[in-house]
Amino acid sequence: MGFSIQWVLAGRRTPAVGQREYASVRTKHVRFLQDEVAAIDVKGKVVHTRSQRLPYDRLVIALGAELAPDLVPGLADAAYNLCDMGSIVQFREALRGIDRGSVLIAVSSVPFKCPPAPYEYALLVDDILRKRGVRESVRVVVSTPEPHPMPVAGKAVGEQFVALLKERGIEFLPGHKPKAVDVARRTVAYENGVELTFGLFAAMPPHRAPKVVRDAGLVDASGFVPVDLGAFRTAHDGVLVVGDAASLKLPNGNPHPKAGVFAEAQARAVASALRAEIAGGTAVPYDGKGVCFVDAGNELAAAAEADLLGPGGPRIVLRPPSSEGLEGKRRFERERFAKWFGG
Ligand SMILES: Cc1cc2nc3c(=O)[nH]c(=O)nc-3n(C[C@H](O)[C@H](O)[C@H](O)COP(=O)(O)OP(=O)(O)OC[C@H]3O[C@@H](n4cnc5c(N)ncnc54)[C@H](O)[C@@H]3O)c2cc1C
Repeated sequence: MGFSIQWVLAGRRTPAVGQREYASVRTKHVRFLQDEVAAIDVKGKVVHTRSQRLPYDRLVIALGAELAPDLVPGLADAAYNLCDMGSIVQFREALRGIDRGSVLIAVSSVPFKCPPAPYEYALLVDDILRKRGVRESVRVVVSTPEPHPMPVAGKAVGEQFVALLKERGIEFLPGHKPKAVDVARRTVAYENGVELTFGLFAAMPPHRAPKVVRDAGLVDASGFVPVDLGAFRTAHDGVLVVGDAASLKLPNGNPHPKAGVFAEAQARAVASALRAEIAGGTAVPYDGKGVCFVDAGNELAAAAEADLLGPGGPRIVLRPPSSEGLEGKRRFERERFAKWFGG
């Protein structure tokens, strides 16, 4: 569960609490094979895993996004990775040791999974430093190439986020795309000519489709697989893609956000369409609806209710941070674990 990483940073849990073994996946009528996909041959309609050759009639690719910190020189050596559990454990330790200077949180490029994640991290870092009584002497900065947080949600929601950051004294730098990091000087050079010095540095690394998907010739210039919204079909016969690996456009032409709640809904829609194709009946279409709970630190979360495909959409409403919001997030996880892994 992606947000489990943030709860480890916040000291709310240990890594193991939010993890489940794939081996515990049990679904009737589905044969589950745990293996690495080595190659996808879309012409021959075969997937090669390390141990098997799997011919297919329909292939649903759900391999997520690969993190590529190496695309920004110096980033891999200088920055904690905000999407990696091991790196977050180290970042948590470093935050326990800092008592002056600065913490920089940077988005490397768009798109990235979970649009509010970098801002949630900034709020959690603020919270950790306040609890330690050192916030006054540590600058917290969040930079992004985006014009405002969560561009998919529009300017008004973006301004709500900026207000949340401002309230906590977090500096927000929109329109900043890191070009290179100087590890020795502890500086980040941005494409717009700005250079920032950091004490601690954590980043959302660049994202792209996994190598095996790129090698199959499925991606376009976005680095992800273009598919049509609703049917999730690629240009290749019988090949569908859902979740973070897909490049999807909303009806207004803007990119569809990458998030677990949408990956799950897309998987449900595809499963339902395949079932209707094989066994008849009516497929349940993808409706682009979902709730994300934005962690605001201080044991609060704000529900972001998204209706991406409704008339005049996308429409995203951000509720004020509350303890009910955080309970909603806990419930979201409990329900998924019960459904996917049986408790
Ligand atoms: C810090 C953080 C917080 C988040 N919070 C939220 C949230 O609150 N709500 C929300 O909805 N989303 C959240 N997300 C986003 C969410 O985790 C992702 O959008 C979601 O996991 C995408 O699902 P997916 O199935 O497409 O890919 P993934 O969950 O990444 O699954 C893809 C799987 O494929 C595997 N794989 C890749 N290549 C191969 C191969 N060659 N062979 C075999 N296996 C392979 C990967 O190891 C991975 O297990 C968060 C993400 C982060 C990082």
